[in-house]
Amino acid sequence: MQFPLDIANIASTWNQFMALMLDANVTSNLVPSVNWDTLNSSVSGRLFQYAPFARACFEDAEGVVGTYDANACAFAQAHYSDGQYRDTIPSSYQGLQWETCPSKGESCLLDWTNPLNEAAFDAPKTCHQGSIPTYFLEVQTATDVQNAFKFSVETGVNLVVKNTGHEFQGRSARPGSLALWTKNLQKIEYEPAWIPTGCEDTAPRTVVRLGPGITFSDLYAFGEANNITLPGGSTPSVSATGGYVLGGGHGSLSNTAGLGTDRALEFTIVVPTGDVLTANACQNTDLYFALRGGGGGTFGVVMETVTLALPRTPIHVITLDGLSSDANTTKAFWKVLVDNSREWANAGWGGVAGATSLQYINPLPITEEEARTSMQPLTEFAAQLNLTVGQEQYDSFALFYQQVLEPLYAISGFPLSTVSRLLPAKNFETSTSRDELLEALLNASANHSLTYVFATTPYAYKADNLTSLTPAWRDSLLLIEVLDTLEYNATASEQKAVIEGLSKSMDYLRNVTPDSGTYFSESDLYEPEFENSFWGANYERLAEIKLKYDPLHILDCWHCVGWKGRSDEAYSCYP
Ligand SMILES: Cc1cc2nc3c(=O)[nH]c(=O)nc-3n(C[C@H](O)[C@H](O)[C@H](O)COP(=O)(O)OP(=O)(O)OC[C@H]3O[C@@H](n4cnc5c(N)ncnc54)[C@H](O)[C@@H]3O)c2cc1C
Repeated sequence: MQFPLDIANIASTWNQFMALMLDANVTSNLVPSVNWDTLNSSVSGRLFQYAPFARACFEDAEGVVGTYDANACAFAQAHYSDGQYRDTIPSSYQGLQWETCPSKGESCLLDWTNPLNEAAFDAPKTCHQGSIPTYFLEVQTATDVQNAFKFSVETGVNLVVKNTGHEFQGRSARPGSLALWTKNLQKIEYEPAWIPTGCEDTAPRTVVRLGPGITFSDLYAFGEANNITLPGGSTPSVSATGGYVLGGGHGSLSNTAGLGTDRALEFTIVVPTGDVLTANACQNTDLYFALRGGGGGTFGVVMETVTLALPRTPIHVITLDGLSSDANTTKAFWKVLVDNSREWANAGWGGVAGATSLQYINPLPITEEEARTSMQPLTEFAAQLNLTVGQEQYDSFALFYQQVLEPLYAISGFPLSTVSRLLPAKNFETSTSRDELLEALLNASANHSLTYVFATTPYAYKADNLTSLTPAWRDSLLLIEVLDTLEYNATASEQKAVIEGLSKSMDYLRNVTPDSGTYFSESDLYEPEFENSFWGANYERLAEIKLKYDPLHILDCWHCVGWKGRSDEAYSCYP
């Protein structure tokens, strides 16, 4: 997205912008009955109030800190869809609707399609805090988290865990809450011969130890610098651990390297009962199981995650661009994908396709000729349209990511709703079932902004049995996601209509995959039977583990393990 602003000139206003965003004077209490000063002292003064990202553009404001400032407003306008800038601001959410409270008509948003559009912020438009937490605690130590848990029990103030704010279901936002902001936990360490704590008999493995604030962009650069491969997802500003690992975590290497969850070998976590625990295959194994797919913001605050590294190896890359988005071309293109998904997954391929392009990779040690032969059906399809399939080799996954995927996925920071479904291999068995699947996919995608066909399931990966995700991940060949953007000023009922429309469309795929499920982190806000959809038969055990470590429900979130229903005040802003 291009903005007609000179970013270089206004970048010098960054400090001014940040200064306007926060108010360190916690005595200006927005929740007056609670003694925030005591908490602030116990966390070395790292408790802050933060205004919404676009605060400086509004002359009128109610219940937020900060002031109108033309330069800082220009800065916010220039960086409105810059995910990496947004990451650094505690009050910023990448799905913009989670900065608002649509049910009360309260927000502080710019028009993301044109941040200069004055209709969004000129008086009488008023800036409100919306669903953005009232206070942010910049977490640095386990003691900070312990103090916050104690404070929550004593005062009744609700907590939320906020990292980079990429959550699709608003689980890291909550009106009136105290947010435990983990983005500044920036540890990244390479350990070439790591042995899990308490598992002395285990063979050493090559790992990295990550704080939740480390993003994919940081991760890939670190892997490259240390001559290892660190698999991950697509958008550079998403945390490489955080909600990604806790909820599943797919990416172009998942077919052969497993999900983010599979690769997580140890967690250091502060649980709501107050303990700081190490969870791995040898100790606190129930918690280890729960953290490997049971979802973020549910079992505690993860301070560090140890994840498995792979050797740095070359990869084969196949790309196709420039397809027309007309219905016939999309149908013919997706038919090629559906007809060949099983063979491609078995051959080691994984990647992403939309309606008009595809980027697939293969890390296995196959020859160029073998790569070409296996992708022949795609090449033949492209040739019929006078298009050419690109075939290259990159020296590493990180180099491919930086040159191909990162430019495609760098934009973030706009209101977006999604629905998704895992497509089991059995639906790809016969030409009749493939045709039925293709028809359902086309129907599900019709009339929506965007559809992703993700060949990112861990189909060729041999997993252990210590993850809590729905087993549907394991035997599925594709994850389908359909998305719609929202208007910046969409009302609660307009948002509801968009979500219901997406949900209805996804029924086409649900109907042909009745025993399947979907991805906790990228699902329908109104996912039917969400417990079964996200976790299948694992749900019951997860619910017991939740009760053990969080008996008072200090951490609760939308459609998370132990969810008590939408009547909770926490969801009063949800459409
Ligand atoms: C633009 C975009 C691109 C994406 N690309 C991918 C992709 O390629 N692959 C993929 O699998 N997913 C992808 N996602 C989904 C993403 O992985 C999830 O939204 C994930 O939950 C984000 O986690 P976060 O910590 O970065 O964000 P946040 O919104 O800060 O947190 C998300 C959830 O995790 C919890 N959480 C965060 N940190 C911690 C912690 N330290 N301890 C305990 N709980 C915590 C929060 O409470 C919240 O429930 C994408 C999302 C977006 C918006």
